[in-house]
Amino acid sequence: MSKGSTPRPFSVSNEEYSSRWDAIFSKESCPACGNLNFHTCRGIKNGDHFSYKECERCKHQWDKK
Ligand SMILES: [Zn+2]
Repeated sequence: MSKGSTPRPFSVSNEEYSSRWDAIFSKESCPACGNLNFHTCRGIKNGDHFSYKECERCKHQWDKK
């Protein structure tokens, strides 16, 4: 006779964890004014991929690639 109980798989994936840890440890601030609010701009210019971070307060740009 079976109990009818099925083992429940864990629904939280390792990926979700690592991305959460990533968000915690990748805390970065503007090197010019220390502001934590910035956005990353990405695009293609003359066939080359580029990306940089821009502070939302002082508009300083850094980490250009
Ligand atoms: Zn700034």
